[in-house]
Amino acid sequence: MKLKTPFELLIECEGCGLENLIPEFTPEVPAVCNQCRENMLAYDLQQTHQGHTCDSCGRAYLLKTETEFVDGESECQCGSRDFTELSLKDFADQTAQPQTSESDDADPDFDWCRPAPDDSPQDDFNEIFDDNPGF
Ligand SMILES: [Zn+2]
Ligand SMILES: [Zn+2]
Repeated sequence: MKLKTPFELLIECEGCGLENLIPEFTPEVPAVCNQCRENMLAYDLQQTHQGHTCDSCGRAYLLKTETEFVDGESECQCGSRDFTELSLKDFADQTAQPQTSESDDADPDFDWCRPAPDDSPQDDFNEIFDDNPGF
């Protein structure tokens, strides 16, 4: 199933067991436990957790497998008892951190005082900045 983001995520921390509620969860939001500060998505959730989403309000529950969840009896905070099982594999696939390649555009070691030889292309580069009154 396709998760619509952002969604409300209630997740039990595998590290300390605390239930954390993340009101607007998206794959970009770090799911860090309020208590032990672990990244709760760093655990192998497919091994440790079960997933359910509320049919009524859309809140997702990621509970530890040993936590008792009875379909038709457990109740969402909105009062609904209708849940759809959420595959942890789907969840993991859709919340995988996007690969960011944050390359440094600004080179901190850039040497502004570098003496450039006369016919070096570096000269043009410097002139661009010389024309800029901001420099
Ligand atoms: Zn924790
Ligand atoms: Zn609900």
